[in-house]
Amino acid sequence: MTNSELFDSLDANSFYIDGADIADTKAPQVPIERRWEERRFRARLVNPANRRKLDVIIVGTGLAGSSAAATLGEAGYNVTCFCYQDSPRRAHSIAAQGGINAAKNYRNDGDSIYRLFYDTVKGGDFRARESNVYRLAEVSVEIIDQCVAQGVPFAREYGGLLDNRSFGGVQVSRTFYARGQTGQQLLIGAYQAVERQIAAGTVEMHTRHEMLELIVVDGRARGVVIRDMVTGAIETHFADAVVLATGGYGNVFFLSTNAMGCNVTATWRAYRKGAYFANPCYTQIHPTCIPVSGDYQSKLTLMSESLRNDGRIWVPKSGEDKRDPRQIPEEDRDYYLERIYPSFGNLVPRDIASRAAKNVCDEGRGVGPGGLGVYLDFADAIERLSRQTVEAKYGNLFSMYAQITGEDPYEVPMRIYPAVHYTMGGLWVDYDLQSSIPGLYVTGEANFSDHGANRLGASALMQGLADGYFVLPNTINDYLADGPFPDVDASHPAVVEAAEAVRARIDRLLSVDGSRTVDSFHRELGRLMWDYCGMERSEEGLRKALTRIRELKKEFWSDVRVLGMNEELNQALERAGRVADFFELGELMCIDALVRRESCGGHFRVESQTPDGEALRDDEEFAYVSAWEFGGEDKRPILHKEPLLYEYVEMKQRSYK
Ligand SMILES: Cc1cc2nc3c(=O)[nH]c(=O)nc-3n(C[C@H](O)[C@H](O)[C@H](O)COP(=O)(O)OP(=O)(O)OC[C@H]3O[C@@H](n4cnc5c(N)ncnc54)[C@H](O)[C@@H]3O)c2cc1C
Repeated sequence: MTNSELFDSLDANSFYIDGADIADTKAPQVPIERRWEERRFRARLVNPANRRKLDVIIVGTGLAGSSAAATLGEAGYNVTCFCYQDSPRRAHSIAAQGGINAAKNYRNDGDSIYRLFYDTVKGGDFRARESNVYRLAEVSVEIIDQCVAQGVPFAREYGGLLDNRSFGGVQVSRTFYARGQTGQQLLIGAYQAVERQIAAGTVEMHTRHEMLELIVVDGRARGVVIRDMVTGAIETHFADAVVLATGGYGNVFFLSTNAMGCNVTATWRAYRKGAYFANPCYTQIHPTCIPVSGDYQSKLTLMSESLRNDGRIWVPKSGEDKRDPRQIPEEDRDYYLERIYPSFGNLVPRDIASRAAKNVCDEGRGVGPGGLGVYLDFADAIERLSRQTVEAKYGNLFSMYAQITGEDPYEVPMRIYPAVHYTMGGLWVDYDLQSSIPGLYVTGEANFSDHGANRLGASALMQGLADGYFVLPNTINDYLADGPFPDVDASHPAVVEAAEAVRARIDRLLSVDGSRTVDSFHRELGRLMWDYCGMERSEEGLRKALTRIRELKKEFWSDVRVLGMNEELNQALERAGRVADFFELGELMCIDALVRRESCGGHFRVESQTPDGEALRDDEEFAYVSAWEFGGEDKRPILHKEPLLYEYVEMKQRSYK
């Protein structure tokens, strides 16, 4: 029997073991609008003099990590911070373009905390935890005040108030923005706040340091093993609590809009040490990216969702119509989102817009090379608003598009296609943002977060900053109130074991001395993930992917070629370690997708659709968070389910029509 025949004959259950259900025990059982206040009141405090005796490690300096480091430093804890870039402000958050949501209702267009909560639960296709989402909406209004106080230059309207625009999945304007550079401006704000703490001596920053292992002592997270990326030195660092703010893992797909360095290593190593990994198969495919242009491409570029405020999406009515788009008259165009979803039009959520683009391309009506593209057209907006106004709103995005494609989007419609952009999955956390390992907290994109099966645009920045500025600083004290914990040093067996494991893995990667580059393995893995665990999934495809990923992983460990040595700056070695973890993650993603025999969010299971081809959720069977526990090397993972209860928003099939 071949490997694939073997898998075909196995039931999905044979890929995993059923574990006990789990639940969040931290959200107080009071009405939802009082939960956060109640939790803050019940959480124990640490007095300022005692905070100076407590150490916190924060891995990551994006919006989630920097905001947490600045706030915990200001509170008086001793914070040690790590990132792999050469500066904290080069974290991937800097790439965020379009904006950040907040329920300020400046536009007086019917927005409220409740509406942001409702939109997020519905947008996430009823797969997020209500308590967390409500708190996120509540805290959103404080974030804007905090950032304005830091001097973040949000766009303003003529009266001087902060301006707002709309993002997908909502009918109000609640997105605050700084042109197409919102992430950069927010990160500069958070970075300044961290720098202030560095100067004050409360935060110690280590750049170009990569966390390669978590240290768990007596069941608590107590430190990390770090590689100095310049010298190759393996270091151990200890603390009373560890925070992972290490971002998302979209690069498992090789091609994505993420920064090239984004990876899963920190959270994956924590998973292997006992932290549950939640909903790994929930990936966000963003509808407006510049299409793939060739086989040798290694990066995709996002065209911000904000463009859907004014740009209109269309394809020719006929697949045979190969005319220059400017020559195609209105009656021969299909503005398919406006046609199918008249209430939301071009501003349907990302999952809906992405699937619709895929559908028209599958029908043979796609445009551009390979037929994998749709038009995003600004001709109407330029006529209605003037070129100058469009340039003021989106100028930097237009020039980025022109530089990459060689086409002028003021003259010719942009071509766009869906691409991997964000991961809703991540380490499981409770209401306090604590993982299943006591003392290990996870913030920002690294946790499984508040977005269910689909994140609404402009809500990642909101979540990262909510976690770092407001949530974590009010929950971690409840844990630290029991500290300081007994001293740990480098001779502790758990520390020796963790550091040795890191060294052994590096030695193994360097000694394979095979014939294939790390990138060629990564590219092949990414292709498998995109084809079988991307926008559309099927039982058959996922089984095929699992077989091939396992084979490819073996080939990687016997044939990868990593040049150079450990004791130097060695990017091939860095990438090899990350890709090795992507193989294991990819396998878990496929198993998670296989088990979830429903369509939800952007994840279309071909076996689960309505008669008119829309995604069909199955609330009876799948209204739960899948929280995976590492089962051991080459052993099956254990599935724990956290049932999702909806007390405030009625669960129903989503409609944006
Ligand atoms: C092109 C693009 C545009 C976007 N636009 C928007 C937008 O307009 N609005 C919005 O809400 N969201 C947007 N997003 C999503 C948003 O930018 C991210 O979800 C968010 O910035 C993630 O922040 P973070 O702090 O969680 O992680 P990141 O910003 O990814 O930071 C991760 C940090 O962890 C560190 N790190 C990771 N692993 C290790 C390790 N092993 N050891 C040491 N350090 C490590 C890194 O060095 C880095 O400092 C966009 C995403 C992309 C790709």
